[in-house]
Amino acid sequence: MQGMGKTIVVAGCGIGGIVAANELRKKLGDKARIIVIDKSPKHVFYPSLLWVMIGLRAPEKIQKGLSFLSAKGMEFVNSEITGISAEKRRVSCGKKTFTYDYLIVSLGAALSPESVEGLMEGGYNLYDVNGVVRLGKAVKAFSGGKIAILIARLPFKCPAAPYETAFLLDSYFRRKGARRMIEIEVYTPESLPMPVAGLETGEAVKEMLESRNIKFSPESAVVSINAKKKLMQFGNGKSAKFGLLIFVPPHTAPKVIRDSALSGESGWIPVDAATLKTKFENVYAIGDVASVKLPDGKMLPKAGVFAHAQAEVVAHNIAAEILGRGSMKMRTFGGNGYCFLETGDGKAAFSHGNFYSVPRSIRLKKAGRLWHWGKVLLEKYWFWKWFK
Ligand SMILES: Cc1cc2nc3c(=O)[nH]c(=O)nc-3n(C[C@H](O)[C@H](O)[C@H](O)COP(=O)(O)OP(=O)(O)OC[C@H]3O[C@@H](n4cnc5c(N)ncnc54)[C@H](O)[C@@H]3O)c2cc1C
Repeated sequence: MQGMGKTIVVAGCGIGGIVAANELRKKLGDKARIIVIDKSPKHVFYPSLLWVMIGLRAPEKIQKGLSFLSAKGMEFVNSEITGISAEKRRVSCGKKTFTYDYLIVSLGAALSPESVEGLMEGGYNLYDVNGVVRLGKAVKAFSGGKIAILIARLPFKCPAAPYETAFLLDSYFRRKGARRMIEIEVYTPESLPMPVAGLETGEAVKEMLESRNIKFSPESAVVSINAKKKLMQFGNGKSAKFGLLIFVPPHTAPKVIRDSALSGESGWIPVDAATLKTKFENVYAIGDVASVKLPDGKMLPKAGVFAHAQAEVVAHNIAAEILGRGSMKMRTFGGNGYCFLETGDGKAAFSHGNFYSVPRSIRLKKAGRLWHWGKVLLEKYWFWKWFK
């Protein structure tokens, strides 16, 4: 295209990708060609997904089509990325190939429920829109028995989501007058809820579970599910029956990343914690697909709040490089994050802090209506800001 110098490919248009693409366009105008590639025609705002489970949102209200990007002067390619050659600066979608000057990889995490025997047949996928739509119907029809919320493997995105699910279901069934007939239990390989947020937050969430009569089974790594017998088998030799199984599926780096030279030992893309640069020049990875080691050896959690902040840093720095303006100082990502933890009854708690500091300083503010409305406002802001 005439007048356009550099080509920037944004691979993936979820939380990180939509922010990066918009910010690049805003800062660079027509000084760069921006190609956004996503296999899905729609962006999903996952922080609102749990509201779909209890009928507070229709699934179409938390998704937006991506074709509008073309009207904003970007090129939207609705295709699956099948290959990335960072050495040759090429991204392929089947036979189509795109050459780039800059690449931002924001492909998120791939979900692999099929890697645990019986999981797909026996339960509902909490991390998938269709799974949650089906789950919503099952929750509505559930009148008694045990609800098991199972975290299948570590790591998983949004460390708070399964605990929020437990709180929301507790509140939902209390309001229906059916809570006495229902047992709720969270099973996880973790030793504490949200361990990366520290002992204090973990203990506080545990107390919140106990006070609502929600059971917590730590260090329970599932091996298989017997869908017919409604039975979970754990690696520690224990087993447990369920009436309704809700699961967080195992996460892996997307195959196209695992097959590329970008991936590290774990499959995820190692990046510089401050700049999100990969080992390849002009290639950045942001959000869930990136792996950032914290000073104490733990990994930065996979959450939209980080994908968002990292996208802003990377878009700014690429624009500064292209524009060559001395006045545009390079930015860094400093590890700040926050999370609204839905606790039911129209309330949420609020966790915030810095994940790069030593020791880590994460605080949990008491549940209240204000934080719940904070989350609702965030959702409104999201669609207004990035989709106008
Ligand atoms: C139930 C739930 C609740 C959550 N709540 C919160 C919350 O309250 N706060 C918070 O901060 N985070 C929350 N998260 C986590 C948050 O959604 C993710 O961390 C965030 O979406 C990561 O952004 P991303 O850009 O890295 O990846 P994603 O948003 O997952 O985007 C990745 C994109 O890449 C595309 N893609 C993948 N592979 C390919 C391919 N081969 N070719 C083309 N396109 C591809 C996908 O279609 C997708 O659009 C929640 C997640 C869930 C599931």
